[in-house]
Amino acid sequence: MAVTKNTKFIFITGGVVSSLGKGIASASIGLLLKLRGMKVTILKLDPYINVDPGTLSPYQHGEVFVTDDGAETDLDLGHYERFIDENMTRMNNATTGQIYYSVIKKERRGDYLGKTVQVIPHITDEIKYRIWTAGHDDIEYDVIIVEVGGTIGDIESLPFLEAIRQLCLEAGHENTLNIHLTLVPYIRAADEFKTKPTQHSVMRLREIGIQPDMLLCRCESHIEVELKNKIGLFCNVAQNAVIEARDVETIYQVPLVFEAEGVGDLLVRRLGLRNDKPDLTQWELFVSRVMNPEREVTIAICGKYTELKDSYKSIIESFIHAGAAHSTKVKLKWVDAERLESGGLGTSFDDVSGILIPGGFGNRGIEGKIATVQLARERGIPFFGICLGMQCAIIEFARNVCGMESANGSEFSNQTDFPVIDIMEQQKNLANLGGTMRLGAYRCELKAKTATSKIYGNAVISERHRHRYEVNNVYVDEFEKNGMVATGINPKTDLVETIELTDHPWFIGVQFHPELKSRVLEPHPLFRDFVKAALTHQSRNGA
Ligand code: GLN
Repeated sequence: MAVTKNTKFIFITGGVVSSLGKGIASASIGLLLKLRGMKVTILKLDPYINVDPGTLSPYQHGEVFVTDDGAETDLDLGHYERFIDENMTRMNNATTGQIYYSVIKKERRGDYLGKTVQVIPHITDEIKYRIWTAGHDDIEYDVIIVEVGGTIGDIESLPFLEAIRQLCLEAGHENTLNIHLTLVPYIRAADEFKTKPTQHSVMRLREIGIQPDMLLCRCESHIEVELKNKIGLFCNVAQNAVIEARDVETIYQVPLVFEAEGVGDLLVRRLGLRNDKPDLTQWELFVSRVMNPEREVTIAICGKYTELKDSYKSIIESFIHAGAAHSTKVKLKWVDAERLESGGLGTSFDDVSGILIPGGFGNRGIEGKIATVQLARERGIPFFGICLGMQCAIIEFARNVCGMESANGSEFSNQTDFPVIDIMEQQKNLANLGGTMRLGAYRCELKAKTATSKIYGNAVISERHRHRYEVNNVYVDEFEKNGMVATGINPKTDLVETIELTDHPWFIGVQFHPELKSRVLEPHPLFRDFVKAALTHQSRNGA
């Protein structure tokens, strides 16, 4: 049972504008409660009608975060996992699409016994059910944090807010708490912070029947107590629950700012939770390493969605974690693979100490990526290929080392005598694109004495996947004869999960997405070692 009679619910809504960092706020609050000894999980409610973000373009939605159980979810779940260090599941993200899908299925089954199916109560009941059953069934949660996507005033989020209103009534005031994240803009011409947008946003919330208990006020800099008093008065919120959430240099400071503002203590007091003193030492140490690095190293990311950095969220965060472990700031140089195709590689990689090719779909930019792999291989620059990046590494090796000139992946071209990356038999005749890739955690056995197994320090690993195409085993012997070793194999299917070059300082490709498992205090071993290799390269080559 996920919820007990003692479980408390904290709802987090957002006002005024989007992108205020509700995900980070939710994750930070989760961390502060977990550090007080509580069992916490976080549910993200997304108002869009897609069943999941899996079918959304990275330009629209940013990264798709994949959980161990193979759900394609909102990137905020990545923040939750990284901050509270708990695995999320498909129960931690519900969309309007999922809610309606399940209500419509019930209606078709006749479950509603002739009733007219309506937003209230049927859709709101389904939303409440998803909140009650958030998280994993065998864990008894002290606190379930529910983040509502979108901004107050959106038509789409109304059913979610109505469900929250009902749930607060049913579970009782002592068991529920509402936090509203809002913006207090600074108007330069007037030299003043303005509270009106916050007043209006809270007004809308109160019209719906939700009275916030706490306001997290995003602001550029410190706001005076008089202003907090004013906001509290107009919004009917206790002054000490009007929290200054000022801009910070790194998202990892947010829990520390909240703690200093008394957020954790306020929450536990109001909800009657126990209040073990939280130990933030490790977190503080991490933040101070991020903010005061001893050195820098530049790593290139050669991808297709380079204008929207959110598409590579987990990779960016993984480099922050790994960099901190080496007291190093990892500077990322974004290289647009398509531009390389028209303009050539030129000097794009002359000033970098490592090259990463991330995941991706479709053939735009593929030849640019393959040329990039060749450069990394020939110049001995540390290379890390993730999913599509590993596939490019294999195509490059087949073409330029094994003499298979037309080698390609069948996602990119069918004009090839050597389909070194191919579609799985089970994938060939699928009608639906949504939710049908190889998704979620799979085990992988690492060959002893390989660089990859040394880095992991483990013979068996489990990593998360999201792809349709695989290494074609027909060619593996040929690759190995020429110096590219299949170092990790899926024990059930025999599929190649990791490769490395024997004659190269650091050249590793992985079919899975290691970036999804990096945590703040536990950087992913591959990222940690890749940064180390880049530092070594830098000290030898000056770049
Ligand atoms: N497009 C490739 C595939 O489907 C790689 C996917 C990815 O990089 N996530 O296999």
